[in-house]
Amino acid sequence: FVFLSGTTKQVENGTNVEGEEKEDKAAQSLLNKMIHTSLVNTTNQVEVLQRDPNSPLYSVKTFEELRLKDKLLKGVYDMGFNRPSKIQENALPMMLAEPPQNLIAQSQSGTGKTAAFVLAMLSHVDPTNKWAQCLCIAPTYELALQTGKVIEQMGKFYPEVKLAYAIRGNKLDRGAKLQEQIVIGTPGTVLDWCSKLKIINPKKISVFVLDEADVMIATQGHQDQSIRIQRMLPKECQMLLFSATFEDSVWKFAERVVPDPNIIKLKREEETLDTIKQYYVLCSDKEEKFTALCNIYGAITIAQAMIFCHTRRTAGWLAAELTKEGHVVALLSGEMTVEQRATIIERFREGKEKVLVTTNVCSRGIDVEQVSVVINFDLPMDKDGNADNETYLHRIGRTGRFGKRGLAVNMIDSKHSMNILNQIEEHFNKKINKLDTDDLDEIE
Ligand code: ADP
Repeated sequence: FVFLSGTTKQVENGTNVEGEEKEDKAAQSLLNKMIHTSLVNTTNQVEVLQRDPNSPLYSVKTFEELRLKDKLLKGVYDMGFNRPSKIQENALPMMLAEPPQNLIAQSQSGTGKTAAFVLAMLSHVDPTNKWAQCLCIAPTYELALQTGKVIEQMGKFYPEVKLAYAIRGNKLDRGAKLQEQIVIGTPGTVLDWCSKLKIINPKKISVFVLDEADVMIATQGHQDQSIRIQRMLPKECQMLLFSATFEDSVWKFAERVVPDPNIIKLKREEETLDTIKQYYVLCSDKEEKFTALCNIYGAITIAQAMIFCHTRRTAGWLAAELTKEGHVVALLSGEMTVEQRATIIERFREGKEKVLVTTNVCSRGIDVEQVSVVINFDLPMDKDGNADNETYLHRIGRTGRFGKRGLAVNMIDSKHSMNILNQIEEHFNKKINKLDTDDLDEIE
């Protein structure tokens, strides 16, 4: 037996900073996958760039139009899908077209990307052929498992199609030939299976999926491995790449691994401060901020509230103090496992707790739509101590669609935090009024 984990680990460790950042991104992605039990709503239009601008642009409004095998259609309906999501309307006809077309697709987490490429892989497979035909790579072990679950679920009524996991710990003999038609794994192990161990014949792969490209490229090693895998595939292999975000670096990488692509993009809903009442409370230190928070607690818990702290330590302290006062609060903190975090967010969404104390890093990218009160126990700032306007907007802002009225309270306890507040006011060109916590008529 050969231990397949060695190579992956070495690369993953890379440099420390890179490693941490990647873990952070990967953990956020996983968390998003776990908490998105339904589609994210969007009113934005999909942007489509066709490789051949003269070919007709197909879009489907129903799954029937895709002429899927009955077993697959059954799987889709069994998952509770009634109609294709925004991105699926365009992506599915492209992915299922003959001859195959390459695709780069970008949209935020929860918009139906995974379901789309899983359906494409399942449709392309020939179950009578007992070899690997579809290859999907994901940045981490956990993300690969998560996608694997979707493949198993959607393929529930298509048992002839088998799935293999190319992940660390899954030991196979050198030269053993894989019988499974779909392989999901991490780049290191997949590369080993394709080259060193020859368990997969890359020349027989007809669909290649690269998921979570933005997380993938956060590790240099993964980027190189992905490119090496891609180079072993036949020219006519369909290449599909998915990403939640699209910085330049993701784009450059995408262009390297997906030749002649169609491109689909779905913008996030714009966030706005227009429907938010913003206040600040002046205090002298952390303890006074706590007292002020207790004073407004009754008013804020009419709705659901999120309280943001700068560090895990403050968040932990604050949650403990609030609990001592007899309040029921949930704490979301960085040292928790992704599973623990997912449970806490789920409970909060269900309204089991009305107040969630958290740090910024922990909650970045998580949408909790029903929150209408946000307390910045610490104001968001960047590494240099300047106002982090983007994070402020993301914490407080509402999307056009969920444009209910909201309330934001910023706690100020120093010249520095007042300075940040002023920067935020200036940036958004919106005045933030002082709140007197002894007289709460204003916010009620
Ligand atoms: P992404 O990969 O973009 O994060 P997913 O494919 O994981 O999105 O979909 C997000 C959630 O929406 C999942 O719970 C998934 O089961 C569900 N979902 C996906 N497509 C549909 C659809 N067409 N109709 C209803 N729910 C869907």
